[in-house]
Amino acid sequence: MNKVGVFVCTGCEIGAAVPLDDFEEVADDSGASSYHTHEHLCSPEGVATIQSAIDDDGVDGVVIAACSHRAKIEEFKFDPTKVHVERVCLREQVAWCQPPGEEDTQMLAEDLLRMGLAKATIVKTPVPLSEEVDRTVLVVGAGLAGLEAAQAAAGMGHSVVLVESEDKLGGYMAGMKDVVPEIPPYDTIHANPIGDLVAAVESHPQIKVFKSTMTKKINWKVPVGLSPCAWAPSFRRPGPGPTTPPDCPISVTVPPRTW
Ligand code: SF4
Repeated sequence: MNKVGVFVCTGCEIGAAVPLDDFEEVADDSGASSYHTHEHLCSPEGVATIQSAIDDDGVDGVVIAACSHRAKIEEFKFDPTKVHVERVCLREQVAWCQPPGEEDTQMLAEDLLRMGLAKATIVKTPVPLSEEVDRTVLVVGAGLAGLEAAQAAAGMGHSVVLVESEDKLGGYMAGMKDVVPEIPPYDTIHANPIGDLVAAVESHPQIKVFKSTMTKKINWKVPVGLSPCAWAPSFRRPGPGPTTPPDCPISVTVPPRTW
């Protein structure tokens, strides 16, 4: 970051345990552009001190030497596209576990501050991903799982393309009269619900159904910023006739692999 401000909290016993006399010099030597202390940095006044350094002094890196990064998360949240926040844990790692006022305690605190500043001065502001991503969901196969997936994705507001190689939807279940018990107490077979599900999917305004169609190829590219991956499938249809379904979208998006 270009301008890094150091904000040291003396509350929660930090001030009593760590002599802060040399802190400003350590901050200066490690690349800080400004140095502030506050006895209660997470208070509205303490947070306002940080915000004013960001707004008025152009600070884009903030090193907060106070409690653990697991505490006061909401208080120390600033616009991440403009400001990098680095937390230095003086409370849990120094004040609450080291003998107060000793030279080693002081050295530990100073080292933690140096490390925080090293990170804050080197880190760059993240650039938001600007690429337009098509969030259409491709579902291949219109058996029970495919139909339910298409319906669920459409229910979440996605446009859905459902591709089925057969000339009708429903898969294996479409040929069954009844299904095994799925509702407690599981002692009676039920009428096959697939017909209702097929009707719901086929009439859903957000779901485009392509029967007698197979995926031929899926090209993918990883846009800047890595995920989600953009997939560009092409389709083929068995037998004579057009190879690409009418109104076929040229790209769809699936969630990135997480394994
Ligand atoms: S909770 Fe954190 S920021 Fe608030 S006074 Fe204690 S050390 Fe300082």
